[in-house]
Amino acid sequence: MARSQGNAPGAGENRPWTDSLQRGRVPGPRLPQQRVVDGTGPSTRSVHAGTYEDPITGAVGTPVFQSTTFTFTEDTYQAFDQGHIRDVPIYGRYGSPNQWSVQEKIASLENAESALMFSSGMAAITTTLLALTNRGGHIVSSRDVYGGTFNLLREDMHQLGRSVTFTDPTDMAAIRAAVRDDTQVLFFETLTNPLLKAVPLVELGELARERGLLLVVDNTFLSPVHLRPLEHGAHLVIHSATKYLNGHSDVTAGVVAGTRKYVDRIWSQLLKFGGSLDAMMCFLLERGLKTLALRMRRHSENSTALAAFLAEHSAIRAVHHPSRPEYPYRWLHDICPDGWGGMVAFELHGGDEAALKLLDRLELPVVATSLGGVESLVSLPFNTSHSFLTARQRREVGIEPGLVRFSAGIEDPDDLLADLDQALSGL
Ligand SMILES: *Cc1c(COP(=O)(O)O)cnc(C)c1O
Repeated sequence: MARSQGNAPGAGENRPWTDSLQRGRVPGPRLPQQRVVDGTGPSTRSVHAGTYEDPITGAVGTPVFQSTTFTFTEDTYQAFDQGHIRDVPIYGRYGSPNQWSVQEKIASLENAESALMFSSGMAAITTTLLALTNRGGHIVSSRDVYGGTFNLLREDMHQLGRSVTFTDPTDMAAIRAAVRDDTQVLFFETLTNPLLKAVPLVELGELARERGLLLVVDNTFLSPVHLRPLEHGAHLVIHSATKYLNGHSDVTAGVVAGTRKYVDRIWSQLLKFGGSLDAMMCFLLERGLKTLALRMRRHSENSTALAAFLAEHSAIRAVHHPSRPEYPYRWLHDICPDGWGGMVAFELHGGDEAALKLLDRLELPVVATSLGGVESLVSLPFNTSHSFLTARQRREVGIEPGLVRFSAGIEDPDDLLADLDQALSGL
């Protein structure tokens, strides 16, 4: 088993209460029929890990178990008796063969003991943060997180008795200074929207261990093909599976992965909050995941080619992409050397007016929010994700006039470049 054997925080003054949980350290949940392909590369894991091999029909792919409840057996009663009901099929919200297949695939890709599916990325984030903190607890996070997450942290956490400090996610000194005696969780995105700021993940992991905190990261923008945060000090990794993991802009889902100790705790919160994922969505997500490694390579090649082209173009003032020599967060390259997904952001000299014109003139990319699909998507932060801010507040968080957010799909790079070229000419 090439699984990480857990990331329990070392001895610290302020150990989280979750440390006292004595859970069995079996990976899974997993059925005996599911394929395990640890020790293989990311493409092999994408294709094979977790597949349920039906012993009766020999079906090559995981069948859809469209059933909300499962017949009680001796195993079920034993599981109730021994308190490991997460490991047997009982009821759809508790777990199902389709959830377990897709969970196993993602756990394998993230090199985690266990993963847990949710009905959206926000369900994963909300359930995880509330499972890992308690009343009076404190969270350190950043203003650069996804809008839904920011609203949860800013509006709801206070109501629920948790306090939150927002810091610059790239400033380790500021993050250190924000940690208090009552801090329980550090929550950051590995690569942020839309400016692709990278968090100093390794240093955050060290801080978490030093102070007995849990480091939870949202790795949506990079996917486990480019970065596996659990290997660099994170305790838990979250994805909006709606984006790259599914990859086809047709499923809303979320996931958290880590050691069973923590994922089991989050599972018991999921049972109450109820954001579980339906069997059919699991099937679609499992199918999408089979091409994850292939897709990520193309997304990354395309965004890198676009960044290089844009950096040379006279209509462009700045390009934000980890491949550019002026990219400031160099620590990303140490842990994530050969690909950064499909996102690229750039600023037009002509400001928001020119950016609006560009969107009108582009023919290939779809003008829509979201990211990570096979089709290129383009949008402007100023009138979408960051429209609730004033122009001055936008500048304070680095959203300059004329900023365009481009999610490169997997189209032929020459076609994307030609389209951008025609749309930019004469702006
Ligand atoms: C989209 C997104 C989310 C929210 O995911 P949903 O599946 O839409 O609920 C969370 N974090 C990041 C980084 C995202 O891009």
